[in-house]
Amino acid sequence: MRILVLGSGAREHAIITALLAEETRGGDAHEIIAAPGNAGIAADAGAEGAGSVSTVALDANDPAAVADFAMDNNVQLVVIGPEAPLVAGVADALRTRGIPVFGPAQAAAQLEGSKTFAKRIMDEAGVPTGRAVRAGTLAEATAAIDEFGSPYVIKADGLAAGKGVLVTEARDAAINHAAHWLEHGSVLVEEFLDGQEVSLFFLSDGHNVLPLSPAQDYKRLADGDAGPNTGGMGAYSPLPWLDAEFGSEAEFVAEVQATIALPTVRQLATEQTPFIGLLYCGLILTARGIRVIEFNARFGDPETQVVLPRLVTPLSGLLFDAATGALGSRENPEFAADVAVTVVLASENYPETPATGREISGLDAAAAVPGVHIAHAATAFRDGALVSTGGRVLNVVATAPDFAAARARAYEALALIGLEGAQFRTDIAARVAG
Ligand code: AMP
Repeated sequence: MRILVLGSGAREHAIITALLAEETRGGDAHEIIAAPGNAGIAADAGAEGAGSVSTVALDANDPAAVADFAMDNNVQLVVIGPEAPLVAGVADALRTRGIPVFGPAQAAAQLEGSKTFAKRIMDEAGVPTGRAVRAGTLAEATAAIDEFGSPYVIKADGLAAGKGVLVTEARDAAINHAAHWLEHGSVLVEEFLDGQEVSLFFLSDGHNVLPLSPAQDYKRLADGDAGPNTGGMGAYSPLPWLDAEFGSEAEFVAEVQATIALPTVRQLATEQTPFIGLLYCGLILTARGIRVIEFNARFGDPETQVVLPRLVTPLSGLLFDAATGALGSRENPEFAADVAVTVVLASENYPETPATGREISGLDAAAAVPGVHIAHAATAFRDGALVSTGGRVLNVVATAPDFAAARARAYEALALIGLEGAQFRTDIAARVAG
């Protein structure tokens, strides 16, 4: 298949790696075009036996430009990685031209783009989530803050690039956060939910859903969940501790599918905004049951980097069947028993003011550690050298038969990578490594 992948992060690198792996496992060879891609994806393009990858300088957020490019180049499937093109209506433009696209229309992507919209859909569908009050003024927000009490949970209503949510025990900080985001629109004040967090992805064709394997990510910057929230500092999959609570991963997944994913997708279909793409369910397992804390309308980053390396079923067929309404006749995707851990290498001063333009060394040696693969996030080649271009620079991904081995591999590889001032957490998956 000729597949166009939109985006430039480690998530897109992981998607492309999974598509290319089909050929090495004896499956189909694909022609992948990444727009715009990144230096790691471009390097794959030059690697031997890696199928065919190319990168193209295309504005992934421009619906007409993407649709024209896909038409002119006979693209058979478009996979949309990040949220921005979804919110910009890129999927709509492609569907209008009859091009299969994995990614929801603008109207359905509101599930991620508007917390008020997501809450309404959940209410209509009877999906369990935290109680919340929408506030349009500081007086309303303050009243809700005092009604719910500490710990306070304040969320910007619209897209906020991971910076919209504050969980705090300080009333002043809660009110300041609400005041800040009220300048950009409304805010939600939400009930605090206590419990383990789980990310679970579902592929949706608008009517049917298929689950992938659960993952847990680490949102805080520093070890022990200290420091500010980030886009994600690491992740692991599967979650062995689900067995104790739910009997097995399969039983947990079936419960989320029946009580959360399917009712949500059916509600959107009823409202003539079918959700075709990746339904990311951000969950908290409270003592009173599973609750949704957020939906995203695309693959999560960094969870994708640990879920896709474990996927045995060819990814291209799953994405194509979702894009063309054909998931109904499929079995659940199959996953390897091997576990996966990813550790994010971030720039100095991330997340506030990340230092960029610094040279990265040692990647060949790191990638040569058995079971290790490097997914690039914010890298570029400048004057023949690989340099950092953003906050989260790359992901070291390690697979192994167990978590102790996967962690050992990931951290062995990290120790070989040079980047001045770099930060990473040392406790990713430590709790499951025994
Ligand atoms: P989000 O940006 O929606 O993923 O939220 C960021 C983080 O805030 C989540 O990963 C949770 O750790 C935390 N969070 C969000 N909503 C709640 C809630 N209602 N109760 C407790 N923690 C929450």
